[in-house]
Amino acid sequence: MLASGHAQGTAPASPLTLVTRDGRRPVPTTILNNQEFIALDDLASMFQLAVREDALAGGVTVSYKGRTIVASADQPMASVNGRVVTLPAPVARIGRRLFVPIDFIARALAPVYDSPIDLRRASRLLVVGAIRVARVVVSIDAAGPPTRASVEVTPALLVSSMFDAGRVIVRVEADMLDAAPPPAPAGLIDQIQAGNQTTTIAFALSARAGMPRVSTTTTTESTRVTIEIPPVAPSQDTSAAPAPQPAPPPLAAVPPAPPAADAVPALPGQRTAKLQTMVIDPGHGGGDAGVRGPKGALEKQVTLEVARRLKRLIETRLGVRVILTREEDRAVSPDERDAIANNNKADLFLSVHVNGAPSPAVKGAQVYYLRLDRAGEDARLRTAASELVLPAVGGGMRPIDVIPWDLAQAAHVDVSSRFASMLEEELEKHAPMGPRPLQQAPIRVLSGVNMPAALIEIGYLTNAEQEQAVQSAELQGGLAQAIFDAIVRFRTYLEAPAAP
Ligand SMILES: [Zn+2]
Repeated sequence: MLASGHAQGTAPASPLTLVTRDGRRPVPTTILNNQEFIALDDLASMFQLAVREDALAGGVTVSYKGRTIVASADQPMASVNGRVVTLPAPVARIGRRLFVPIDFIARALAPVYDSPIDLRRASRLLVVGAIRVARVVVSIDAAGPPTRASVEVTPALLVSSMFDAGRVIVRVEADMLDAAPPPAPAGLIDQIQAGNQTTTIAFALSARAGMPRVSTTTTTESTRVTIEIPPVAPSQDTSAAPAPQPAPPPLAAVPPAPPAADAVPALPGQRTAKLQTMVIDPGHGGGDAGVRGPKGALEKQVTLEVARRLKRLIETRLGVRVILTREEDRAVSPDERDAIANNNKADLFLSVHVNGAPSPAVKGAQVYYLRLDRAGEDARLRTAASELVLPAVGGGMRPIDVIPWDLAQAAHVDVSSRFASMLEEELEKHAPMGPRPLQQAPIRVLSGVNMPAALIEIGYLTNAEQEQAVQSAELQGGLAQAIFDAIVRFRTYLEAPAAP
């Protein structure tokens, strides 16, 4: 027997939002006797549960993969695989449907469920699976100038920021943001965007804003980004005429402002660089041959040929110094490759590979830049790894090095994505493109370089036609030209003054 609710339930202000890897959807709840309840049939369809009323047990039996929860109809408790947990209320019936308090999710269901379940009451999110949700709170202090904004990210996660086209963009390395509604824009900030649909928070600055200064502090609990926005300095005035002398300050003791140039540290990702040195990384080498084609072509040989060709072209025609991570057929570790680029203070890094696929039909070029991942998130890593494990011809699997996350490349991911897009666009003109020609992936060799970086798979060596083509002067020449053109475009982008 189940007690019936005295009254129809009333709907709360907003439904819960179920968040999974596949997306999000609303889940209705209902208020009954001041408690929030969720329908058991809704839970059953979300979590693949079997629900059965059990008169003998005096409640409801909920089964999941052979694990059992018995929720009592007259006591505010449930037995979870034999262990008793308390609930704010017993199972309730409204009409023909059965309801449980929403605490049932965390206290009874989560302990038996295969994936993590996180009910975030404040933001009304029901997060299922290994999804990194970052709580983000934005605050503004407009008492200045300067105007100060802060972004508090909980838990402490990797955060990068950039200043582009009058906007400060803070990017959180999470799967989704649980962002509190941002405060109203004030001071030198015209607009704030902090949505749950993206993992960035954008601050559009006023035309009266000078160069912002961004700093990040991290504690074990959270990461805080502080943005200090001064008013535009006379030296940054867009008018060509010399700025008039400001009126003398009322107090003689006011110290002079430091020169604007010294006051502005470079933001991560900000374009201030020149393209003087480039590192080209021919994939594999030595005992690591990489992919082997059906006729015996080796990835390590093709990558070295293409890299040498590129080096000649770029050095003679662009006057850019090009360093190869290997000049001959020898094994080089990913760390060593990264160190060569970092120690030479390269301005750009390009790793060259040839792909392999189980199906001999797959062909075409692809460009990758780094996706930052976090260690310890098993499901996420498994997904990443499975995307990147390639069957080696001749048996076995060939894992591409996957690492969880790394700080070196983090500051450059935005600029790297620009370079990768340019590569993809230029390659399209000269070579067949593969499935998903532009991709983000957690690639070990890219993660440790402290400069814009991309990786190109020039084709599929496992495709007989491409095995021949990637060794030909014709395709190699076309690829080299495409990469060269992309580098010329990137240099123009890199050396252009940052947008006002
Ligand atoms: Zn490779």
